[in-house]
Amino acid sequence: MVINNHHLFFYILDKGVQDMKYFSVDEMVRSATAKKLGIDNSPTEEIANNLVLFIETVLDPIREDWGGPISVSSGYRCPELNKAVGGAKNSGHQYGFCADLQVKGGMKRVRELADFIFMWMKDHQMKFDELLFERSGNVTWLHFCWIGKDGKQRMKCFDIVK
Ligand SMILES: [Zn+2]
Repeated sequence: MVINNHHLFFYILDKGVQDMKYFSVDEMVRSATAKKLGIDNSPTEEIANNLVLFIETVLDPIREDWGGPISVSSGYRCPELNKAVGGAKNSGHQYGFCADLQVKGGMKRVRELADFIFMWMKDHQMKFDELLFERSGNVTWLHFCWIGKDGKQRMKCFDIVK
């Protein structure tokens, strides 16, 4: 049986629906900005595959151990969307291994999540690319990039206040 890319894509999405517990590919690709500007942010097969791997290997297990709600404010961004939201030129959001995570409880709770993810990755002997505490006005989130452009895992930790 020949499985072409089209079938593979739906196989991945199907598989995702069955195996992913907390996060979904849909949550990782949806974007109010893309909708507003009419940008098609659909993932390619490769990106969809990356998103499933990211969720199954990292995000879902972390969420399980964290034990409370975590939402994704921005996951995958196609280059056009990344540009529209003012993302960095080589932003990890363009490759499917990156998510901006939000939790209720303000800045303190986001910092706790940052510490938690840092220790979790260390405990599981996994590297990451970036773990950035970001704030813009009253909105705080954690930019968590597992694998960046060209497979980068630089273990960068920063506070970024816009
Ligand atoms: Zn981000």
